[in-house]
Amino acid sequence: NVAAQGSLLAGLNTEQLSAVTWPNKSALVLAGAGSGKTRVLTTRIAWLLSTGQANPAGILGVTFTNKAAREMQTRLAAMVPVNVRAMWIGTFHGLCNRFLRLHHRDAGLPNTFQILDSADQMSAIKRLMKSLDVSDERFPPKAVQGFISGNKENGQRADVLSAGDPYTRKLIELYAAYDAQCRREGVVDFAELLLRSYEVLVANQALRAHYQARFSHILVDEFQDTNRLQYAWLKLLAGDMGSVFAVGDDDQSIYAFRGAEVGNMRSLLNDFAIAEPIRLEQNYRSAGNILTAANALIENNDGRLGKNLWTDAGEGEPIRLYEAYSDGEEASFIVDEVKALQRDGWNLAGMAVLYRSNAQSRVLEHALVNANLPYRIYGGLRFFERQEVKHALAYLRLVANPDDDNAVLRVINVPARGIGARTVENLLAVSREQGVSLWQAACAGGAGRSAGKVSDFVALIESLRARSENAELTLAEAVSLVVDASGLRAMYEADRKEGEERLANLDELINAAASFMPDDPQAALVEFLTAAALEAGEHQAEAGEDALQLMTVHAAKGLEFSAVFVSGLEEGLFPHENSMADRKGLEEERRLMYVAITRARQRLYLSCAQSRMLHGRSSYPLRSRFVEELPEDLLKSLSVKAAPRAERAAWAAPAASKPQRSAGSAGGYRIGQSVEHAKFGVGVVIDAEGADDDVRLQINFAEHGIKWLDLRYAKLTPA
Ligand code: ATP
Ligand code: MG
Repeated sequence: NVAAQGSLLAGLNTEQLSAVTWPNKSALVLAGAGSGKTRVLTTRIAWLLSTGQANPAGILGVTFTNKAAREMQTRLAAMVPVNVRAMWIGTFHGLCNRFLRLHHRDAGLPNTFQILDSADQMSAIKRLMKSLDVSDERFPPKAVQGFISGNKENGQRADVLSAGDPYTRKLIELYAAYDAQCRREGVVDFAELLLRSYEVLVANQALRAHYQARFSHILVDEFQDTNRLQYAWLKLLAGDMGSVFAVGDDDQSIYAFRGAEVGNMRSLLNDFAIAEPIRLEQNYRSAGNILTAANALIENNDGRLGKNLWTDAGEGEPIRLYEAYSDGEEASFIVDEVKALQRDGWNLAGMAVLYRSNAQSRVLEHALVNANLPYRIYGGLRFFERQEVKHALAYLRLVANPDDDNAVLRVINVPARGIGARTVENLLAVSREQGVSLWQAACAGGAGRSAGKVSDFVALIESLRARSENAELTLAEAVSLVVDASGLRAMYEADRKEGEERLANLDELINAAASFMPDDPQAALVEFLTAAALEAGEHQAEAGEDALQLMTVHAAKGLEFSAVFVSGLEEGLFPHENSMADRKGLEEERRLMYVAITRARQRLYLSCAQSRMLHGRSSYPLRSRFVEELPEDLLKSLSVKAAPRAERAAWAAPAASKPQRSAGSAGGYRIGQSVEHAKFGVGVVIDAEGADDDVRLQINFAEHGIKWLDLRYAKLTPA
């Protein structure tokens, strides 16, 4: 046993060792990217267990994603011979779900309660607003959703809110009505999972005492991104006796837009009487140049808690910078590089392409498909968010709980069975007047003229319910039954265009059911639906077959790759235009860039394009300021424009795309070059026409936008 403990601790540096073996009191490990925070947290759990200081049931471990939770469990299973399932390891949402399933009665929820992901929540809000006749122009549903979630995350119900202005009063009213609707339907949204379990713990002294005594060790990864309610929940569970061991990095706080509060770090130090944070300063992930670049970038932020990161890994390779002419060309550059790396023996799964916003992925995907490179994409429409999968899940939800109005509305006429909007309106009216669910309204014959068609639907659901309950079907059989008997399969078989892919996804859903491992086989369906809802809310990559990984920077948090491509480094995109107006927004963008850079172990590519199609419009962005903030000597430019001017055509874009252009010198300027104009300031040359002494340049000026200038008159200098 002593030997086993020794091997657990082997290889840790002094600070890591001290963190792992910290006595049983609260601690905050404050350390930069790649310094081993997650590793320390996992090792500490193993150490607590193997030294007998904690039993598995006493461990509460919070991770930021479900994937991270699974990884932690797998690692722990390999480190110590204990039943990992006895530990509570999961995301805040996952853990609260587990709690509410156990105590659904105290929480006033049906035992089959369903979870609304963000899209479900949105349609529930729209439906509510329609029924209350609230204009969605004055009250954009997205804003209503933000209001509701924001208040829940602050722990505030509608009844404690008040407002002087009528607009906010209306929002509060909608919040209250939305909550009532959710209660009636037995569904909870993501923020509700947390708030409800928090309220149950507050209200129920015995339960609280039980869990406070039980969880002797609470450990939290990515602590910088906890919001107020999550922190309050942790504090409540810890009680007076418990301890919280949190690890985090203020420089990686990237969820302020969702209510995360870095201030929680200070609160933790105060509330749990922690004298000093533990600091880890050695980075084990990235080569020296990458780390130097990350450190230099983040220095531009104010008010940091401050830390030093170093590595003994050596400088490594330079950071590669590529400026493409267009987004398409950027994508083909990335594809070419990935292929080259692959030829050199790098595996695809060890490479990631990161981008700031999901919309960028389409062009990349297009290039990858053409090049026949396998890839996985995360953060876009994920499996559980696909239309066909959501349809099938809606049927399954009705099997579990027919009062789920969202599910009724989703599939009452899918496949088409002649139940039109008018009928649905009737049902909604009945359900409103009588305060019953849509299902009950349908059963009571509240459909008016289409009563026959509606009762066919009711009969279909009844028979699905009866067959899956009585026939002792496995979960996979139940899913398969639903896909067939609902008519979904036939519907997609008839769809020549997209049917094949959608059927493949439905089969994949059956596979997912077959390999699903419920904690309680009796509750397999509900557990499966819960897992699907929680996964749909998560934007995080899965480990898997050898495929290039594509994801947003947000989704990449905590992960590492041998090679990383950070794409779209353009003003307006990264930093994002919505966040450029104020310093706070910009600093959050910079932290996001810090996260992006620090995902890379060996090789880092930065790329941008001089023109990009976004939201159906062409734009001609400037290179991101974040590139300018990196030390120049660490960068190696791979762009064509770096070649000596005389040897390259001025605009070395593919000839085919610009046949009308002269290939001579554009008055000594080239596309992509930064220039300065006496009146318009600094800009980038994005196009050129003419030759010899009749040259016109199109220039994108930072302050003044895009202009064509005639070189005979314009006063330009290279900037
Ligand atoms: P992030 O802030 O990005 O979440 P982190 O601080 O959680 O990073 P880890 O992911 O735990 O860092 O560790 C980064 C990498 O360094 C991992 O591959 C990990 O296995 C490795 N590592 C951590 N500590 C050591 C060590 N003492 N010796 C060797 N490798 C280590
Ligand atoms: Mg980590």
